[in-house]
Amino acid sequence: LTRLVGEGWDGPGRNGAELTYSFQAITRKVATENAKSEIVRALDAWSRVARLRFVRKDEAGGSRNINILFGAGAHGDSYPFDGPGRVLAHTFYPAPPNPEPIAGDLHFDEDETWSVGTDVDIFSVALHELGHALGLGHSDVPGAVMYPYYRRVTALTDEDIGAIRMLYAEPEAAPSAPATPLHFTVETPAATFTTSGSSINAEGAATGAVAP
Ligand code: ZN
Ligand code: ZN
Repeated sequence: LTRLVGEGWDGPGRNGAELTYSFQAITRKVATENAKSEIVRALDAWSRVARLRFVRKDEAGGSRNINILFGAGAHGDSYPFDGPGRVLAHTFYPAPPNPEPIAGDLHFDEDETWSVGTDVDIFSVALHELGHALGLGHSDVPGAVMYPYYRRVTALTDEDIGAIRMLYAEPEAAPSAPATPLHFTVETPAATFTTSGSSINAEGAATGAVAP
């Protein structure tokens, strides 16, 4: 079971939510673009399983914004980090219960050995912390991303997906490609044909679209 904290960014019921995210400060231990893309990959993992959209913005802060920073020791809130080991990161729950503008914000302890694919793995921590940013507490299922102890993970588990869908709707089905109508004109002899069928026979010199 995964604890839920509040009702998510969509309020009561299971709806969708659109949030922004911003990068205020990125670790110096990994190339900046790599660190950012690992965090974006974690955002994508959540938005693939629930009706969530994350839009990047340049200014840090603001409401309904996941502001992301790496900081060492005291870093601007009331919860200074503790140096290497132990606490790796912390995150504020949605508003309510946490107040804006800090609601949803995700802070990484810069004193950890941040890396990509080895410990301490940015994607794994971001995936877990973003669960908190969306309104999930911890799971008692070992192996779940929301289990409260760090280990390297590659994907959300059924436990995590079931939990986020207690707060938000399933993702919109990918829209199917709209049918493209074919228009063409028979000029000689002039004629008008209309059909809703899948085929029509017409003879003459034609101009216009060519389509299957
Ligand atoms: Zn903090
Ligand atoms: Zn946690």
